[in-house]
Amino acid sequence: MISKEMYELGAHSSVIREIFEYAKKRAAVVGRENIFDFSLGNPNIPAPPVVDETIKKLIDTMPSCTLHGYTSAVGDDSVREAIAAFLNETHKTSFRKENFYMTAGAAASLTITLHALAEKDDEVILIAPFFPEYRVFSEGAGMKARVVLSDEKTLLPDCDAIEKAINEHTKAIIVNSPNNPSGVVLGEEEVKKLCAVLEKKQKEFGKPIFLISDEPYRELVYGSATVPYITKYYKNTIVCYSFSKCLSLPGDRIGYILVPDEVEGSREIFTAVCGAGRRLGYVCAPSMYQFVVRECLGKTADLSAYEKNRDLLVSTVERLGFSCAKPDGAFYLFMKSPEEDAGAFCERAKKYELLFVPSDSFGFPGYVRIAYCVSAEMIERSIPAFEKLAKEYF
Ligand code: PLP
Repeated sequence: MISKEMYELGAHSSVIREIFEYAKKRAAVVGRENIFDFSLGNPNIPAPPVVDETIKKLIDTMPSCTLHGYTSAVGDDSVREAIAAFLNETHKTSFRKENFYMTAGAAASLTITLHALAEKDDEVILIAPFFPEYRVFSEGAGMKARVVLSDEKTLLPDCDAIEKAINEHTKAIIVNSPNNPSGVVLGEEEVKKLCAVLEKKQKEFGKPIFLISDEPYRELVYGSATVPYITKYYKNTIVCYSFSKCLSLPGDRIGYILVPDEVEGSREIFTAVCGAGRRLGYVCAPSMYQFVVRECLGKTADLSAYEKNRDLLVSTVERLGFSCAKPDGAFYLFMKSPEEDAGAFCERAKKYELLFVPSDSFGFPGYVRIAYCVSAEMIERSIPAFEKLAKEYF
C-alpha cells in the first residue's frame, strides 16, 4: 500500500530530532530554564539586521509578482551573477552565473548533486564522523555509502584509509569542513593531501572522482583558522553551499550548487543537476530569499558569541576531566564519552537534564556531539550539571 522504505525513514526520525522533541516535552515538566538542550544545530544568533532591512526594502521596491513569483528553474540570473562575482572577488576564481543552481539549502544541494551523479553500482565515500543525513541522501540517490573513519587522535580525514577505500565504483566523496559534528576544519595542508589521493586514484581508475564539498559552515571559523576554497585545489569539486548558518536563516531554505567549468563534464553535470532538481521537485529555490542573499553576500550574523561559547564549554569540560578535539569551526563540540557506549553516557547525562547526541549516527561511536549554538547563560547554568556528571566518572 505504501513504500516500506519511506515509512521506515518517516517512522524513525533522526536521533537529533528525537532528542530535540524530548527536550520540548521535558521542558514542559521541569521548566525550560532547567533543561540544557545541546541537541540541535539551530543557530541561536539572530540574522544580521541587513537581512530584515533587505526584506523590507524588497517588499517596498520590487513588484510583488517578481518577488513572490517563480524564477527560472536554476534561479534568478541577477542572483547567480552576484554570487559568481562575490566568489571571484573573494577567492580569485573565475565562475560565471552558468555554474550556479539555486537550491532550498544544503540538504537540497546535496540530494540534487548525488542524484545528478549517481549511476548503477556507484559508491560515495563518507568520512566519519559525518552529518547523518548523508547516508539517507546517498542511499536515496541509489548510491552505496562507504564509510571511512577519521584519524582517532586528530579527527582529520585518514588519507591512507580513504586511498584504500576508493575502488572502481567510487563516484564521489563528501567533504564537510568546518565539520558537523566535530568542528574540525581542514587546513590547506590537509586539503592538499586529500586532493593528492583523489588525483592519484582518478589516474589509476581512469575516471573522475568528484569531491562534493558541503559548506554550510564555511564562515563559522574561530581564531586563525581559515577554510581553503577547494575548487582551487581539485578540479573535480562540486560545492554544495547554504546560507542557513552564516546568515542564521535555516528555516528560509536557501543555498546553491556550484559546478565549475573545470569539472570534467561540467555542462553535462549541470544539465543533470537541472534534471535532478526537476525529478525531486526542487525547481526554483525560494524567490524572495534568492533576492535577499543577493544583497547580503559576505555578511554574517555576529558569530563572536559562538566563539565565546566554544571557549567556555571547552575549558569547562577539560577542567572536569572530559576530552575533546578543540573545534576550530561550526558550533559543535565532539566530546569523548567516558564510557564505551555513548548512548549509555547520554542517558546518564539526561539525569542532570543535559541533552547530548550520541555519535553512533555520525558513524563514529564513542563520542557525543554538544551543539553550542545556544545562549551563553544556558551554558553557565549547565555547568553544575556537567560537574555532577563528571563526578560519576572521574
Ligand atoms: N550539511 C551539514 C553538514 C549540516 O550540518 C546541515 C544542517 O545542519 C546541512 C547539510 C543541511 O543544511 P541546510 O539547512 O542548508 O539544508
